[in-house]
Amino acid sequence: YEALEQFDPEIAGILVDEVDRIRSGLQLIASENLSSPAVITALGSTLTNKYAEGYPGRRYYGGCSVVDRAESLAIERAKELFGADHANVQPHSGASANQAVYGAFMQPGDTILGMALPMGGHLTHGTKVSFSGKWFNAVHYGVDKQTEDIDYAEVERLAKEHKPKVILAGGSAIPRLIDFEFFRKLADEIGAIFWVDAAHFIGLVAGKAIPSPVPYADVVTFTTHKVLRGPRSGALVCKEEHAAKLDKAVFPMMQGGPQMHTIAAKAVNFKECASPEYAQYAKDVIANAQQLATSLGEKGIRPTTGGTDTHLSLHDLQGVGVTGAGAEARADAAGIVLNKNAIPFDPQKPNVASGIRVGTPSVTTQGMGVEQMKTIAELIHTAVTQGDGDPDSAISKQVRAGVDELCKQFPAYPRPA
Ligand code: PLP
Repeated sequence: YEALEQFDPEIAGILVDEVDRIRSGLQLIASENLSSPAVITALGSTLTNKYAEGYPGRRYYGGCSVVDRAESLAIERAKELFGADHANVQPHSGASANQAVYGAFMQPGDTILGMALPMGGHLTHGTKVSFSGKWFNAVHYGVDKQTEDIDYAEVERLAKEHKPKVILAGGSAIPRLIDFEFFRKLADEIGAIFWVDAAHFIGLVAGKAIPSPVPYADVVTFTTHKVLRGPRSGALVCKEEHAAKLDKAVFPMMQGGPQMHTIAAKAVNFKECASPEYAQYAKDVIANAQQLATSLGEKGIRPTTGGTDTHLSLHDLQGVGVTGAGAEARADAAGIVLNKNAIPFDPQKPNVASGIRVGTPSVTTQGMGVEQMKTIAELIHTAVTQGDGDPDSAISKQVRAGVDELCKQFPAYPRPA
């Protein structure tokens, strides 16, 4: 850090400011977490220098024997952690891992069946603004109007009607467990590949807190920085029969040289996730999310689907007469970081939205438990229903005092004593 501070005080200052920002607020973005000093050390290492196109033992550059060891460890640990035949740890991000699936199994114009973005899916699942919707024929399922959970009858109907090459399960705002067995059977019936994008919940699978998609899916892609708590990156695991195809799709089809420092950080993270402490963490993340969803619901901020089985809940603000964008700004002014989110059948435009999404990975990493979730629900409710988006208003200051208290009691990146 001293070298950076001397050479580039502007960027050094930004690094300090970001730690201060994290320490002084409640981070409730469901897709974020606080990675460990061990992960961050690997990320900030000289492994960033090394070109290593190819795979361990078969590179297109000399001098790879050391980084080969890092990638081999990451692969072995990922296979062990998820009980998978094969792992590819090179994708630079979740979107890159997803590109590799399209590259491996589909030709331009082929059909994919995935969840619609406004219903909980992801941009890379065939939206028109993404390569996935521009180059492929995407058909989308949604959620049931009553249960607000995946509309399995619609999935089946669309699969039989459109005969997609690939059926995709997973998304960015799905609070409930997914019935992987249903998707597997359906894919077999129509001869499709079954792909799970587990970016959001793979950490809960790693901690054995929810059922794994790995025994069911042909391929499972994921990010490594959400509940999993590793570096900002991606990876995939798959059945042996697809290994060579997917490896070729990651490199050389979609990517160039792998980021060896990030791969080393993924290896560190996979080791962390194999520990009993991490398994407890994964269970705590869910218990906290369930409490937060319940407590917000009791205050009229209704959780869609009636609650959550995972690390996140989606809340409908129509009952309290606030938009998602309004709630996000009001919470932010009081030190609570969350995001506006479309709810199923949302009457608002996506950049306004009628809902918020909240997640517990970061606050659970800080050691908070269910009692603190009740307090957080109070703070969110006050900020969202009475706040004005002005950090200097009396109500924002009142909520911020409660936030400060929690942050003091459960510090993020605690300073050494
Ligand atoms: N897939 C899902 C379900 C996601 O939620 C995300 C990111 O939020 C991604 C893919 C993309 O990951 P990345 O932002 O690392 O490209």
